[in-house]
Amino acid sequence: MTRSILWLRRDLRLTDHPALLAAIRDANHLLPVYIHAPEEEQPWQPGAASNWWLHNSLIALDRDLRKLGSGLIIAKGSSRLVLRKLAIKHQCQHLFFTCLPEPASIQRDSRVCRELTKAGVSCHQFHSYQLLGGNSIRRIDGGSYRVFTPFWRALQKQGMLQRSTEPAPKALPPLPNEIDSLEIDSLKLLPSNPWYREFHNHWQPGEAGAFKKLHDFMQQTVNDYHTGRDRPDLSDTSRLSAHLHFGEISPVQIANGLSARIGGTPAYTDNEGASQYLRQLAWREFAIDLLANNPDTDRLPFDSRFADYPWRSDKQAKNLLQKWQRGETGIPIVDAGMRELWQTSWMHNRVRMIVASLLTKNMGIHWLEGARWFWDTLVDADLANNSLGWQWSAGCGADAAPYFRIFNPVRQAERFDPNGNYIKHWLPELSTLPTKSLYAPWIVKTSELFKAGVQLGKTYPKPSVDLQSSRREALKRWESVKRRSNTAGSK
Ligand SMILES: Cc1cc2nc3c(=O)[nH]c(=O)nc-3n(C[C@H](O)[C@H](O)[C@H](O)COP(=O)(O)OP(=O)(O)OC[C@H]3O[C@@H](n4cnc5c(N)ncnc54)[C@H](O)[C@@H]3O)c2cc1C
Repeated sequence: MTRSILWLRRDLRLTDHPALLAAIRDANHLLPVYIHAPEEEQPWQPGAASNWWLHNSLIALDRDLRKLGSGLIIAKGSSRLVLRKLAIKHQCQHLFFTCLPEPASIQRDSRVCRELTKAGVSCHQFHSYQLLGGNSIRRIDGGSYRVFTPFWRALQKQGMLQRSTEPAPKALPPLPNEIDSLEIDSLKLLPSNPWYREFHNHWQPGEAGAFKKLHDFMQQTVNDYHTGRDRPDLSDTSRLSAHLHFGEISPVQIANGLSARIGGTPAYTDNEGASQYLRQLAWREFAIDLLANNPDTDRLPFDSRFADYPWRSDKQAKNLLQKWQRGETGIPIVDAGMRELWQTSWMHNRVRMIVASLLTKNMGIHWLEGARWFWDTLVDADLANNSLGWQWSAGCGADAAPYFRIFNPVRQAERFDPNGNYIKHWLPELSTLPTKSLYAPWIVKTSELFKAGVQLGKTYPKPSVDLQSSRREALKRWESVKRRSNTAGSK
């Protein structure tokens, strides 16, 4: 009688699941278990929006498992102890799981395997969280990459489509009798602030929701991705980030889907949309690789010259941070983005870059403050991608934009929201302004504002930072850091 445990974490799906397929190969009984252990994810315990997603994703997975004759066992506590107890109580011989790439997970998994091996359980690990898992992209000298373009070339060279997509099993071995499971509700994942009530209008957590998003993207927008992906006023990106984070779809499924859609290998296709999309997926791989090989970069700057950067933390900075979080900076494209984030728990990539640049450069506030806010409010909050995005925007990351390239939010909005539809949607109080006046209302004539019913400081805030002088200040701070590191280097 073979009994196997399938330890589910961020692989909450049934299709293209190598660990699941291996687990059922010879099993008479399968124990699919999710263990809630947020304290094992120090120092970045899942944020509120992530928890909302997880709650709904577990419900969807349990439903899907039941349809195939199984069900999800819910437990909480130390993963090591829960798994050991489960294995002993139900006389399981095998543990199967999908590796997660974060440094804390890697350490935890080796502790779990040591403990279970001692208890006579054999552990089987699988890599499907990434296109090519397990630190397989290496420079010729064996080191890891710090710059995206050579990483991307190496990834293409290794062949991004190395395996076909595995279908979901048609049936699953049953659970053994006398299984103890908690209710999903008892995990208390739903945030106490009911701000999440509207999220269901935007998201369907779970595998079916991921398939729908992928299908819509492939049918409607992939061909326009290269031209539309930077436009927050269009819906030309896939919005698969949270599904990918929770493993409700694998990157291999997406890459193979692209391949099938265009009838060729996306990396070498003439379909510019498909190849640009694959390149973005490769940024995810790059972020994972960077964090795995530089485990401190969720907290410390990749560029060590920023170790002593004079970030502002005075009372005025705290005030600015609060305005930024609330979408009340008085800079329309930034406020639109921050309100999109608050209302939908997601923000368009271009706008993420704009709001991050304003916070870290014009306001001079530490990138970790922004990273923490995103961590709590994004449904796709992901340690590797969030750390990379924030460090890149702050200028201290691997392959970051040169520091002096400070985004001008007005020019960015004119270029990427040319009809002002994004700003008008998220800031209805400005929607009566003519498009050309939407981007920087503080330079618009009072008579025009009056005609549109806009009163700066009353119906919409005045700008909280002066874009020109704060840019100069940021450059001065950077010059002082450079001088200090040059002096230190020459000593
Ligand atoms: C300051 C900042 C913070 C960010 N925080 C996160 C985060 O916590 N979680 C997260 O998933 N992404 C993060 N990103 C990256 C990016 O904004 C999102 O992945 C993207 O907006 C998700 O929308 P989408 O699925 O429609 O993307 P698409 O354009 O459809 O891209 C497809 C997939 O490729 C990956 N991808 C796309 N762009 C990037 C990128 N720049 N870096 C890494 N992977 C990428 C994502 O997995 C995404 O789902 C951040 C970017 C910035 C600038």
